[in-house]
Amino acid sequence: MTILRVALDVPLDTLFDYASGGMSAEVGQRVLVPFGPRKLAGIVLEKTADSAMDAKRIKPVIDVFACEPLLSPKAIRLIKFCADYYQSPIGQVIMSALPARLRDVKLAIPEKRIGYRLTDTGRVAGIDVLPKGAALQRKLWQAMSALGAIDEPALAQLSKGWRNAMRPLLESGTAETVEMEAPSIMPDAQPVAAPQLNEDQQQAVEVITASLGGFKVSLLYGITGSGKTEVYMRVLESALQEDRAQVLVLVPEINLTPQLEGRFRKRFPTHVMVSLHSQMSDGERLRNWRLAESGQARIVIGTRLSVFTPIPNLRLIVVDEEHDGSYKQQDGMRYSARDVAVVRAKQVNIPIVLGSATPALETWHNAQTGRYALLTLRQRAVAAAELPEIITIDARTPMLRDGLTPGLIEALRERLKRGEQSLLFINRRGFAPVLLCSACAWVAPCKRCTSRLVVHLRQRRLKCHHCGHEERIPAQCPGCGNPDLHPTGQGTQRLENTLAELLPEARVLRVDRDSTRNKGSLEKMVAQVHDGNIDILIGTQMLAKGHDFPNLTLVGVVDSDGALFSPDYRAAERLFAQLMQVAGRAGRADKPGEVLIQTAFPDHVLFHALKQHDYAEFAATLLEDRRMAGFPPYCHEALMRVEASRMELVQEFMIEAIKAARPLSNQITVYDPVRPQMERLKGMERAQLLVQAASRKALQQFLQNWVPLLRGLPQGSKVRWSVDVDPLEV
Ligand code: ADP
Ligand code: ZN
Ligand code: ZN
Repeated sequence: MTILRVALDVPLDTLFDYASGGMSAEVGQRVLVPFGPRKLAGIVLEKTADSAMDAKRIKPVIDVFACEPLLSPKAIRLIKFCADYYQSPIGQVIMSALPARLRDVKLAIPEKRIGYRLTDTGRVAGIDVLPKGAALQRKLWQAMSALGAIDEPALAQLSKGWRNAMRPLLESGTAETVEMEAPSIMPDAQPVAAPQLNEDQQQAVEVITASLGGFKVSLLYGITGSGKTEVYMRVLESALQEDRAQVLVLVPEINLTPQLEGRFRKRFPTHVMVSLHSQMSDGERLRNWRLAESGQARIVIGTRLSVFTPIPNLRLIVVDEEHDGSYKQQDGMRYSARDVAVVRAKQVNIPIVLGSATPALETWHNAQTGRYALLTLRQRAVAAAELPEIITIDARTPMLRDGLTPGLIEALRERLKRGEQSLLFINRRGFAPVLLCSACAWVAPCKRCTSRLVVHLRQRRLKCHHCGHEERIPAQCPGCGNPDLHPTGQGTQRLENTLAELLPEARVLRVDRDSTRNKGSLEKMVAQVHDGNIDILIGTQMLAKGHDFPNLTLVGVVDSDGALFSPDYRAAERLFAQLMQVAGRAGRADKPGEVLIQTAFPDHVLFHALKQHDYAEFAATLLEDRRMAGFPPYCHEALMRVEASRMELVQEFMIEAIKAARPLSNQITVYDPVRPQMERLKGMERAQLLVQAASRKALQQFLQNWVPLLRGLPQGSKVRWSVDVDPLEV
């Protein structure tokens, strides 16, 4: 009897045995099986002759999706690694790495690609029957005539208004729709001319190209506009010269804009390119996934999840904006797509390029210690594009109006007069108030672990979110005796109203998670700005990247001090990256840009480095701090999060979890459980437990023993818990 060992999307870290029931199925095949009263789709991961289970209890598979392609051994190997490393059940990992249609119990049929082609009548009648003035109709006619059929992305590439021009062609019977197998390429198209590389770019391209055919990680470091994308395209081009070679480009969620896709399409008109992201329909996603998996798509551009896409002839991986937080999955398997991409490159022995203006400190550290090659682009690629001037405004003034300094208000007014646009940047993410002395910049420290204490106003206490230490809020500053101590970072709430009062004629638009939740709303807002219908944008990090607003000449940073002294030691690193990115929004075209940063700490090293556009200086300081404190990258962490309807349940589980850890933990540190800043969320009481180890290996060994014990705890059934390996938010 043949036993199929199947991975299923259930929270148990095991494979499930089924009899093949006379059907033939291979490893990597998708099958339909009975699971209790349900039917589930799963993937065969092993085939054996016998099972540890009682033969009578083994049920046969219901169906084998024999006409679907197999998941390749390489793809399975990557997923297995991740399941181990991130301590997640293999079945859940594998099923969540697949397009949604493949989790379904039905045969997965990719959505057909709609294309347009000339009808016989249209072809015979010729282009000259079209009205002389209808230039776009004629252009479409020519494209269809040249390509046979052309799909919507390619049409959009030809012209934004293609739909309106296509309509009369369809109505007159000149053109018709057709289902297409593969996406359009432009076989005769000439790629747009590439610029002459500057010396730094040339050097980077040479190093990366020379590494094709073997594993090597390169960090391409250069400010926005320094020509990183140009370098990516050159090395992709080299990789694609090999017959059938494929490449993978990972981009942050927000960067996968039509502009970027368009830029790649124009440069590689003769290669099939597909994109993969969460905004597409399930059918579309499956279709593109299949094109990658079958080797037809030569270029795959995608967000986080696409790192798992099977790509049989993968020769090069590029991770753009490698420091971006959206590469980290925050639920289910909490993986870092950047780290997984590096593992993948190593497994299949190919080079990987990580690009950033502000690399993650972990990546920077790897480049400093020589594990990664550091390739630096030292200046903006287009000489005319000046860097914006970055100026700090001292916010320790009694003249503040709801958090706005007179200097910033004046600058806004000035732009309004000149008909130019401004962006007010608010940094609210990961905000936890610390106790700060505005006279001497003393910040309440944790004496036990060099972290910063967080203000819990209602209990009138300071708490360390790192190690669990607590104390009373002091009456005055221990540094200078100033009695006026208060939590930082209040007062951005009323910003919009204040602006309406101060600058009633300004057209203000607020862009954040809430206002852009609906599909397409961000694009609409961006269009409004482009059309000049907006004077002042208020935005969080969403706006910091990916969009060029030529008429935007002022960036005001309202409230960033909270991040300077945040108990989350990554906050300053993130703030720097964000400010560099928003600074890149100002003055892109012929108009010089200005960045005004309000702060009570204008002498802070972060601002010093920022004014010089010098990440390296800041990174050196941060790394030294981290080394002294023993924080990552000088140690490795895992964070267990627990939540339940009542705190006792959380505590009971925590106690057992710590008990289970104790005998395993001679090489690691298990801190006391702490409550996160958001102690209660959606009615659930929350707590977390931090584990540190000097080496990745020691941490992995510990987790491999500890997590199975956690799964076995009876207290676990009353709580929700998860383990986050290499957490980004502690
Ligand atoms: P980044 O990805 O670092 O932000 P890009 O590659 O997008 O930078 O380059 C910024 C701009 O400079 C683009 O308009 C690009 O076409 C142009 N550019 C890049 N490299 C060169 C070069 N060597 N010569 C002239 N223009 C260049
Ligand atoms: Zn003080
Ligand atoms: Zn502490």
